[in-house]
Parts: sequence; C-alpha cells; structure tokens
Amino acid sequence: MIYLDNSATTKIHTEVLEAMMPYLQEEYGNPSSKFYSLAENAKKAVAKAREQVASLLGCDPDEVVFTSGATESNNMIIKGIADYYGREDGANKRLLTTKVEHPSVIEAFNFLNERGYDVSFMDVDQYARVDVEKVKEVTAQSQPLLTSIMWGNNEIGSLNPMAELSALFEQNGLFFHTDATQVMGKVPVDLKKLKGIRFLSISGHKMGGPKGIGAAIIRKQSKEIYTRLTPLMHGGGQENNYRSGTLAVHNIVGLGKAAELAAANLKQNVQRLTELEQYLTDIFKTNLSGKIKFNSDEKDKIPGLISLQFIGVNNELLLKKLADYAALSSGSACSSSKPSHVLSSAGKSLEEARQTIRISLEANLAKEQLNLFKGLS
Ligand code: PMP
Repeated sequence: MIYLDNSATTKIHTEVLEAMMPYLQEEYGNPSSKFYSLAENAKKAVAKAREQVASLLGCDPDEVVFTSGATESNNMIIKGIADYYGREDGANKRLLTTKVEHPSVIEAFNFLNERGYDVSFMDVDQYARVDVEKVKEVTAQSQPLLTSIMWGNNEIGSLNPMAELSALFEQNGLFFHTDATQVMGKVPVDLKKLKGIRFLSISGHKMGGPKGIGAAIIRKQSKEIYTRLTPLMHGGGQENNYRSGTLAVHNIVGLGKAAELAAANLKQNVQRLTELEQYLTDIFKTNLSGKIKFNSDEKDKIPGLISLQFIGVNNELLLKKLADYAALSSGSACSSSKPSHVLSSAGKSLEEARQTIRISLEANLAKEQLNLFKGLS
C-alpha cells in the first residue's frame, strides 16, 4: 500500500523518534522543576527544541510557544487576541479572515461572531487565494483588530502571496496571523524578513514529527516587549504565561528535531516533491486525458499536493476502490464527511467537489510506486 495522504499526517521521521525516546524513558523530568539533573536535562531539551523551531522560522526562541498542535495555536491566537484587545465595550471588534481557512480558524471566528465580534470572511479566487489588492482595500477601510490568512491551502495546495501580504501588514501595522501548517519544510519561511507576520501556527505531525504538538509563534513588539493575549489554558503559567500545562518534553523534542530536519532538507525535499508531482501529473495527462481536471494551479502551490477531479466518478467510491493499494483522501481529513467549503468557495459545484480527490506526496517515494495510477482508466 502506498501512502499518499501526507497533508493529513506524515510518518514520524526515524531520527525524530530516536531523539524522543530518552524523554519517554529515563529522562522523564519535569522541566518546571529545579536543581536536580532530571529536571535540568528536560529544561535543556526544551530550550534546544525551542531554538530548532525558531531557527526554522527565523524568529527568536522566546517567540515560540509550544501547544498541542495547529488547532490549538489557531484558537489561542485568534481568541486570545480578540479577547485581550477587543473585549471591552467600544473596543475594535472587527476581525478579518477568508472563506477557505482550516476549520480550526473558521470555527474560532464563528465562535467570536456569536459573541458579538464583527467577523468578515473574504472571498477567494478559483485557486482559493486572496487578492492582495482586495485585502489592502478592506483593511484600509475597516482596520481589523486581527486578520488571519492561511499560507498554503490544505485541500487545493495553493499558496497565498505571503511576501506581499506581510509587506502590507508591516506597512499598515495591523495584527496579522497566518496558519503555516501545510508549508513547513516545503516553502522557505523567514520571519526576520516577513515582519508583517505577527502570529503563525505550525503542527508537528505534518512535518515528520509526532502528533499532539505544535507551536504558536507570537512575535514580540520589540526586543523586550512581548505581545500579550488572553491564554486559552490558565494554570501554572508555563510558556511565558501564554499557555499553562506541564510541557510534553518528548513531543517538544520531536517537534524540534522535525524542525531541524525540515530546515536542513528543504531544498532537496522541494526538488524531489516537484519531480514526483511532475511524474504523476504526466501519468494523469497521458492516461486519463479528458477524464480528469486539475483543481490546483500549476504555479505558486505546495509542492507534492495535487487536487484533481475525476469527471463523473464519485470520489468516495473511487477512494474505497483504491483503498487496498493507495491511501488518499477526498480533501481535508478534518471535514471529510462534509462537502468541501474550500472547493465551493473556489467556485466548484457540489458535483465537482464530490468527484475530487487529494493526493499528497512525500519525498521518499520511488517514482515507480506511482505507476499504479497508469492502471486507472
Ligand atoms: N491548519 C491546517 C491548514 C491544517 O491542514 C491542519 C491539519 N489538518 C490544522 C490546521 C490542524 O492541525 P492539528 O492537527 O495539529 O491540530
């Protein structure tokens, strides 16, 4: 069986697992304890992981807040900013996002909408991208407290023009968050240059790390001044009071190692994913011409993610038929029972959405493994 659902989750990298193991066994100290070596070792391991994540993203280590994953990071940033700066009567309660965000962003904003915030969901183009000019216009008009626009879409794979968006928010000074979960290890990210991105979310299990760990990046206002927000988790005040709870040291070490590998292997992974994608796309074009349609744009996309429609074929039936040979999905694993809000916002009909599958590759596949698709007709 060939695994082609790497946007849903990835296999843990062997080196990541090896790095984690001591912290599940002999090195079981609590990093918040003091003085004895088990605690100090745990503390050092967490500090190293924080540096590894910071180095992947180009931020300071004290801007990395460990969370349970991107769902939590998104909720924490969106609800935390809205509450901290917008809860008072008369405060700016305007929030801006898009119609194609991950449910952990959309539902956090829906929650806030119900609690009296004024949320706008922007339209997107046929590839589920925003138009920067439109964002410029809307933000100039409404001065939203927070804008959240994803970096790479998990269903179609399109990349938003992040350099331009960052420049816009650097210039207007408004809070900007991006969900970068799907682009880690696939797109270079340097927050030192992308100064307009004030908040960013990532997840371990999408980049060869373990499940149940992620990070919220909260950029400081200046070298010494932290950006404050209301925590989701109240308690012992770990993570600089942004998030409480005993740190999951093994998972944090795993995320750190996965970040180090993502940075070290970025170029070769992108090259390999691009080659594999080209190979598979050629198979489809040669063998299924007239029977398929690609939903993804050819350029400015996440390498290795292909969204395509099999004209007249129900995607669930196709996935079931292929399940013994290939693990694929009809879109996002998080909302696979509902018709895709991403495809419909990108202008696809319900029928087209129900004929769409997502293939997400990984760099270690052999080209020959993809020859299985030559048998489709
Ligand atoms: N954002 C995006 C774009 C995603 O693809 C996902 C995972 N499907 C998430 C957020 C949620 O990540 P996690 O599983 O770490 O909560």
